[in-house]
Amino acid sequence: MRFVTHFPLISVQKSYASATNFLVVGAGASGLVFALTCAASGIKVRIIEKRSQRALIGKATGVAQGVWQKLERFNINESVIDGAIPMRNFVFFDDENLVANISVPAINKKQPASMYPQGKLEQHLEKSLRDYGVVVEYGTTLTDIVQYDNCVCASLTKNEGSEVEKCEAQWLIGADGAHSDVRRILKIPFVGRDYPEEWSVAEITTSQWPSQVQAQLFLNHNGVGLFLSEPSHGVIQGIFNAPDVAGKLQEKFPDAKLLYKRDFRVSLRRVLSPRIGKIWLIGDAAHVQSPVGGQGLNLAIWDGIELADALLKNDFSVERRLASRAAKVLFFTDFDYRLLATRMRILRALRNSYWRCASRYPSVAKWFFKIISGIW
Ligand SMILES: Cc1cc2nc3c(=O)[nH]c(=O)nc-3n(C[C@H](O)[C@H](O)[C@H](O)COP(=O)(O)OP(=O)(O)OC[C@H]3O[C@@H](n4cnc5c(N)ncnc54)[C@H](O)[C@@H]3O)c2cc1C
Repeated sequence: MRFVTHFPLISVQKSYASATNFLVVGAGASGLVFALTCAASGIKVRIIEKRSQRALIGKATGVAQGVWQKLERFNINESVIDGAIPMRNFVFFDDENLVANISVPAINKKQPASMYPQGKLEQHLEKSLRDYGVVVEYGTTLTDIVQYDNCVCASLTKNEGSEVEKCEAQWLIGADGAHSDVRRILKIPFVGRDYPEEWSVAEITTSQWPSQVQAQLFLNHNGVGLFLSEPSHGVIQGIFNAPDVAGKLQEKFPDAKLLYKRDFRVSLRRVLSPRIGKIWLIGDAAHVQSPVGGQGLNLAIWDGIELADALLKNDFSVERRLASRAAKVLFFTDFDYRLLATRMRILRALRNSYWRCASRYPSVAKWFFKIISGIW
C-alpha cells in the first residue's frame, strides 16, 4: 500500500497599508487621463492595473477633435504625435451599391476626427504620466472596497494574491472598464439592454485599401453591416455585427494578412449616477455602447479630464454633467446604429437619402460630423 501525503500550499501573505488622495482603478484611457490631470496639478495619485502589460490591439481607431483639444495641455495632439490620419473621406454602400462618397466637412476649421490606434494613444498618455513621476502599477488588482464617511479603504492584491495591501484614499475612481469590479462590488445597477447580435472584430495589413479614404461602411438589407477604418497606414480594422469578420476582410482584400481577430457582444448600458459617496465611475465602467458611433474612447477621455478638473476645484456639479453627457452620447450611438442596421425599407431609403444629400451639401453633413467631433 502507498501512502500519499498532501501538504497544503502555504502562500506567504505580506500585508501592509498605505494612503493617497486619489486611487485610480484601471489604466485604460479614462484612468490614465484622470491620473495625468491630477499629477499635472501636483496632487498625489496612484493608478493600478490588473493586467501585466498594456494591450495594444483591438480597440478604438478614431479620436475626435474635442479629445485632441483636451489633450493639448499635456502636449499630446495630432501635430506632435506621429501618424494620426485626418478623417477626410468616407464611403458608404448599401447592398454593394454606392450610396455616398462623403468629403468630411471641417468643424472649427479642423477635421472632426483623426484615425489613430487607441493603444498608441494610451502609450503617449502613460509616458506623460511617467514624466510627472507617476508609474502605472501593473499586476495590481482591486478586490474589495469599504467606504467610510471621509475616505475609502481598498484591498489590492499583487503577485497573484501573495501580497495584499490596504490602501486608504480620499477618493476612489473606478475606471475599470465594461466589466467593472468597482461596479460589481458596490452592486450598482447597469441599466439598459444587450444588442442581440454576435459581433466580431479583426485587423489586417493590406496594400489594397484606397489611399484617399479613411472609413467605409458596407450595409445590407438584412441588417448586417461591415464597418472598416484605417487606424494607421496599411492597417485596416473591420467590425461586423455578425461572426467571421476575418473571412469578410479576406474577400475584400485578397492580400490581407491577419493581425488578430475576436468575437464580442455589445450592450447599451449606463449607471444612473457616476457617484457613489467617495467613489466615482468613469469611462466604460459607467457606460457602454455600440462601437459603430466611435464614441466610447472619446467619452471615456472626456469623463476622466472633466471629473479630475472638477474634483480639484471641489465642483460637485460634475456629477450631473457626466450623467447628462453619457445619456446624450448613448442616445446618439443607439440612433446611429439602429439606422445603419435597419431592415425597414422606408428607413433605409430615408437614411440613404440623407447621406446622398450630405455628399452634395457639406452643411447637411455638418450636423452629423459636429456630433462626431465631440465639440458640443
Ligand atoms: C472593437 C472596438 C472598437 C472600438 N472603436 C472605437 C472608436 O473608434 N472610437 C471610440 O471612441 N471608441 C471605440 N471603442 C470603445 C473604446 O475602446 C472603449 O470605450 C474604451 O476603451 C473605454 O476606455 P476605459 O478606460 O473606460 O476602459 P478600458 O479601456 O476597458 O480600461 C479599463 C482597464 O481597467 C483594468 N481593470 C479591470 N478591472 C480591474 C481591477 N479590478 N483592478 C485593476 N484594474 C482593473 C482593465 O484591465 C483595463 O485595462 C471600441 C471598442 C471596441 C471593442
